[in-house]
Amino acid sequence: MIYNEEFETLPREVLEALQLKRLKQVVQRVYHTVGFYRRAFDEAGVQPDDIKTLDDLKKFPFTTKQDLRDNYPFGLFAVPMSSIVRLHASSGTTGRSTVVGYTKRDIDTWSELMARCFVAAGLTKNDMLHNAYGYGLFTGGLGAHYGAERLGASVIPISGGNTKRQIMILQDFGPTAICCTPSYALNLAEQGKEMGIDMKALKLRVGIFGAEPWSEKMRTEIENVLGIKALNIYGLSEIMGPGVAMECLEGRNGMHVFEDHFLVETIDPTTGAVLPPGEEGELVFTTITKEAFPLVRFRTRDISRLMTEPCRCGRTLYRMDRVMGRSDDMLIIRGVNVFPSQIEAVLMGIKGLEPHYQIIVDRIGNLDTLEVQVEVSEQLFENADEVKVLQNTERRIVKDIKDYLGVSAKVKLVEPKSLQRFEGKVSRVQDRRHI
Ligand code: ADP
Ligand code: ZN
Repeated sequence: MIYNEEFETLPREVLEALQLKRLKQVVQRVYHTVGFYRRAFDEAGVQPDDIKTLDDLKKFPFTTKQDLRDNYPFGLFAVPMSSIVRLHASSGTTGRSTVVGYTKRDIDTWSELMARCFVAAGLTKNDMLHNAYGYGLFTGGLGAHYGAERLGASVIPISGGNTKRQIMILQDFGPTAICCTPSYALNLAEQGKEMGIDMKALKLRVGIFGAEPWSEKMRTEIENVLGIKALNIYGLSEIMGPGVAMECLEGRNGMHVFEDHFLVETIDPTTGAVLPPGEEGELVFTTITKEAFPLVRFRTRDISRLMTEPCRCGRTLYRMDRVMGRSDDMLIIRGVNVFPSQIEAVLMGIKGLEPHYQIIVDRIGNLDTLEVQVEVSEQLFENADEVKVLQNTERRIVKDIKDYLGVSAKVKLVEPKSLQRFEGKVSRVQDRRHI
């Protein structure tokens, strides 16, 4: 099903003509209304008129998170505060959070794009959505809320936290869809089990999960414990919030980017060179319809790749692959690049382990050390009088991490439910090297 049949299935050449028209407008507008852009373009020796084709965008300078921080809180807004109807801020996962603003029309666009996401997940106005994304400054809660309302679905604005109560609501209200972070979905499943509830017997049919990296194996795990289909949604507050890209139920492989509102590029994070589709690099977005807070070539630090192959759902919008991590999450362990999501993929391939883990990086002398702590399943734990079983599992993890990722790790198996749980975004890595 497609929410906006016309715009989600435009022939590529029509879409690109529309993108070019919108790009020209936004570049003109930021040059004339935002001091930062005027200076940045002048310094780079480019003028708004230099945009003759979409390809000319690459002549323009990047906008970085640092630029946003330097202009904290409102310095990059392109409209006066009287036109702003909402403010949000990023979660601040990797530093001081950035503040974003929306005009009435921006909220309207965002609601539509979130409605598109829900329809891509198979939702209609007959569905009930359990929205466990946090409400507040974080964009997740309200973003999803407005989208679901736009669609006409019934929203339960449960927000994050109070997990036991969430389980009761899931049972009593019988929502058919849920959205939250993938780690929180597992958290809910675990809590439900503890309360003796058959989570698969709930009415839930589909989950829309995002806001943090997760692996394909994690998807299978969530689908199994909750008895639902799990779909990936991507977004970031700087560009809009959730709903920048969304997987479709038909494809379930890569997220369609709403390219009538955002231009997406992948770049080599070191050189800044634009990469051809299919190659893995850092995602860079340009907003082409946003009024309050337009961004030109914003470097997300998220690592992914673009997929241009047609999708069976009929959308002509290109897809982005699941984000394997942020460039600033990438651990360099004795010269080897490792993403937490790669460690997750290894762990989830081994029986008897739970999808709850922590990565601890340290430096002893001049040597980086990597420690992985992972919970074992109740079953394995109860049979653990056979110390051998645990030892074998530990050895297997060490070996797989070495074989697949090329680094040596120390592995520590821990009791079920002993690692910290999170209600919003998980924090998997403790890097003690900076302390
Ligand atoms: P912060 O950067 O402070 O976490 P946001 O709350 O705006 O701010 O979160 C946006 C970030 O969340 C993205 O840049 C990306 O790193 C991550 N993210 C969002 N959706 C996904 C997803 N589906 N998969 C992986 N990472 C995601
Ligand atoms: Zn599709």
